[in-house]
Amino acid sequence: MPIAGVQRIDHIAIAVRDIDAALAFYRDTLGIAPSEIKDVPTEGVRIAFLPMGGPDGSKIELIQPLDPANSIGRFIDKHGEGQHHICLAVADIDAALAQLQAEGVPVLDQTPRIAAEGRAVFIHPKGAHGVLVELVQPAE
Ligand code: ZN
Repeated sequence: MPIAGVQRIDHIAIAVRDIDAALAFYRDTLGIAPSEIKDVPTEGVRIAFLPMGGPDGSKIELIQPLDPANSIGRFIDKHGEGQHHICLAVADIDAALAQLQAEGVPVLDQTPRIAAEGRAVFIHPKGAHGVLVELVQPAE
């Protein structure tokens, strides 16, 4: 059975070494104005949100590691800068997680985590044909 309530792409996350350097392309060349740039100390990252398409649109998130030893830092060490994950918005994250677990999909969270956008669950790339997938129930 399909996951009930997948609505749209919420964001595409790109791991970068330096957000200011990345904004020279995404903001200045492509013209996507960041709505917010903030440090998330609990995750050891700095995030720039670049929304497009209005309230029902999607966004690019640039993620810069503040600690080279965390997961984003290690990702860049191993792969270089680049796409880190895609995120799909769902209506009900608890129902989606229960369904994933029932179907044996390799999830990285056994309960939804509190992410920048709402409550979220990550699916291992081996369960999603090579892409790290995040499902999020956006905060109201
Ligand atoms: Zn994300």
